[in-house]
Amino acid sequence: MKADNGRLKVNQSELIGWLDQIHRFNRLKAKEKRHLESEVAARLGNVETRGIVSFHEGRLHRQLEYHLLGVEACYGYATGLLLDESNGLLNRVRKCRECEKYFVDFSSGRGKKRMLYCSPEHANAYRQRRYRAEKRKERSKHNVAAK
Ligand SMILES: [Zn+2]
Repeated sequence: MKADNGRLKVNQSELIGWLDQIHRFNRLKAKEKRHLESEVAARLGNVETRGIVSFHEGRLHRQLEYHLLGVEACYGYATGLLLDESNGLLNRVRKCRECEKYFVDFSSGRGKKRMLYCSPEHANAYRQRRYRAEKRKERSKHNVAAK
């Protein structure tokens, strides 16, 4: 099956838009929050569930299997996990200052520093770029002063 690149780009931009809203969720208006939830809910239509019941070790076990049918169901479900208040992930979605990709900050918590970069490599790259820019600025100031 040939991938529908046009559709995938629409899906990708929808997901990025959702992540952007989740990233600043506390600053959204109530109406915007409800709109985001309804958009995500619409994508969950292609999530099918199957109940599995078994009995072993003296206990009745009940499980649900989730079948994500298609790309929209996958990112709809993942976004639903982020938005679900009971998971505690909503305030952990960050946007990397270096690559501008979204990530979940699992390290944060009480007394811990908020992560600003998706990886130590990107934290270093960002700092080095800023350092070089400052040095360039200093050099150009000296050059102007010498004239
Ligand atoms: Zn990054």
